[in-house]
Amino acid sequence: MDTISETVCASLRQNLLGFFDARARNLPWRESADPYQVWISEIMLQQTRVDTAVPYYRRWMERFPTVDSLAAAPLDSVLEAWAGLGYYSRARNLHRAASIVREHHDGALPGDLDGLRALPGIGEYTAGAVASIAFGIATPAVDGNVRRVLSRLFDIENPTPGVLRSHASALVDPRRPGDFNQSLMELGATVCTPRAPRCEDCPVRQQCRAHKCGTVAQRPPTRPAKAIPRIDYAVAAIRFDHAGEVWTLLNRRPESGLLGGMLEFPTIQLEGPREGVEAVQRRAALVAGEIVATVTPTFPRTTRSLECVRHRFSHIAATYHAFVVDLGESPIPDASSDHIPIAWDALDTAALPAAQRKIAQSAARLEPRWRTS
Ligand code: SF4
Repeated sequence: MDTISETVCASLRQNLLGFFDARARNLPWRESADPYQVWISEIMLQQTRVDTAVPYYRRWMERFPTVDSLAAAPLDSVLEAWAGLGYYSRARNLHRAASIVREHHDGALPGDLDGLRALPGIGEYTAGAVASIAFGIATPAVDGNVRRVLSRLFDIENPTPGVLRSHASALVDPRRPGDFNQSLMELGATVCTPRAPRCEDCPVRQQCRAHKCGTVAQRPPTRPAKAIPRIDYAVAAIRFDHAGEVWTLLNRRPESGLLGGMLEFPTIQLEGPREGVEAVQRRAALVAGEIVATVTPTFPRTTRSLECVRHRFSHIAATYHAFVVDLGESPIPDASSDHIPIAWDALDTAALPAAQRKIAQSAARLEPRWRTS
């Protein structure tokens, strides 16, 4: 691997920091270098676009302004605040890590790489980002944007993590490491974008080897898309009237695994082949009926099918075949069962994952008084 000369390092640092000072977006987590705020923003931004993360971040900081407040909150309200962002293990890890910080670090995030890495949910990238931005430690932080920028800047054909880390370590500015790391991220997010990089507007185009060699479109190499299995689910959005209110029943998912600890309408994975939309839909209707039979021996008065909801997770493509099953006037089912009764209005603030929230919204379109946000 080529070493980067001090002269090249110095001019890249100068150009990138100048770009960051003049053109960095105003983002709420950039208003302070408070370690807690930096940490929360970095976790939220994993797998999430900035535009999506901003309102979540603002609400989070109102609700959990400190490590202590996060540690003291019930997991349910943490999942609820996270609902819609996906990858819920991030929220569970934040909650666990906050308890560890409160109990073992007097409520202050550790200010060194090893201490940060020891916390749940903090890997090499996040530790580097928090250490450099919040604690001024001269260490790199290589995320997807930085990978792309470095691959192009140095025309790296095979950007392995080791090669990228070595380049990023050599480049990081020892005087302003946090701003420098953010300048690379910002360049990747706003100028050196994946499909249409704006090289004519780039502060480092004079030093960019891929720009010089005409290889920008090949850097970094695209990773072949992984084929992921498609899975169908039957969902019973049960509703009933009780004491003048509309109610429904939710289940809680197991703590570990996909959507761990989140709430959902009773949902069962469909077995058997995906042999055609109509056949799968018929099977889903049968399974939804079986779900209802476990709740009440009363045969449901009406069952209406909702539009299918599709959701792509990192490892599966899920299709939810949902049905609204109306039990009419009914007592609240046995609270000792797996099903948790909840007033339909309270779905607004329940820890429902995105696909389940769409099902609630779809049901509300059938019956507008079942409003959800
Ligand atoms: Fe990216 Fe083009 Fe700038 Fe090179 S010149 S870093 S390819 S935007």
